[in-house]
Amino acid sequence: MRIKVLGSAAGGGFPQWNCGCSNCDHARRGLHGFRPRTQAQVAVSPAPAAWFLPNASPDLRQQLLQDPEFAPAKSTRGTPVSALILMSADVDCVMGLLHLREFQPLRVYATPSVLRVLKEENSLFRSLERSVPPVQWEALPLDRPVSVFQHGEAKSILTCKAVPLGGDYPDYVSAGLRKNLANDEAVIGLEFVQNGKKFFYAPSLSGRDEAWKCHARESDLALIDGTFWTDDELIDVRGSGKTARQIGHVPLSGPGGMLEQFPRDAKGRRVLIHLNNTNPALDEASAASGTLRDAGWEVAYDGMEFEL
Ligand SMILES: [Zn+2]
Repeated sequence: MRIKVLGSAAGGGFPQWNCGCSNCDHARRGLHGFRPRTQAQVAVSPAPAAWFLPNASPDLRQQLLQDPEFAPAKSTRGTPVSALILMSADVDCVMGLLHLREFQPLRVYATPSVLRVLKEENSLFRSLERSVPPVQWEALPLDRPVSVFQHGEAKSILTCKAVPLGGDYPDYVSAGLRKNLANDEAVIGLEFVQNGKKFFYAPSLSGRDEAWKCHARESDLALIDGTFWTDDELIDVRGSGKTARQIGHVPLSGPGGMLEQFPRDAKGRRVLIHLNNTNPALDEASAASGTLRDAGWEVAYDGMEFEL
């Protein structure tokens, strides 16, 4: 299994268009140690020239165009991307679907509740159904491995399991629909398994549910929520607002933070993704970056690749 990081920042990217915080200012001026990043997106490949996408970032068109592996064969229409798996109904997870609307047949997996949010309240996504055959919306069950992709011999089949992460539905979901949605289907992590190798992906982790820890412990690669360094990070920059935990992200530092909660006996690589532009870990010379390195963490960047 190959995994590519096409984008590694949280919503808004880095720098963020309307933010003048010191991180964004330094990135905008091209200072050393402040690497610009597009909004979080990874691609997973179980076999040559076969890819699927967990989520569809607002930067997806640019991210696919920048990498020749996603180009159609010369003189053809098509894509090596055959499926997407939506991990929540957040704008940052679904907006990129609209970049894929050019009459391209695709399969789109999501929990039944997230499918309802997209199909019942957001008619814009019907633009995906003009392709022949139309986009197939597929319900993804919780806690059960699904063969998203089959290629070659049975032993190389890749499976994907949805793991509930305890987050909330986005604010834009109406109160009427919200009360009919399953709480544990709002935000999921994904565990991919192929040939005995495990990849755990959880870019939005609320920390309210503990089930993610056993998946993180067993994985050969964990790409994990690195959105905020402190719980009050957004309040410090904006002067008001919500804490990291209130918007569904356990902060990295502090009591009960990710650095404390992540299983110490985890066997694989631990890599942070989905960093908000305010996170001091985006400054490679910061004390936060040093703390992460000392604790064995890596910070994802656009273009980072893994092979399991
Ligand atoms: Zn900023």
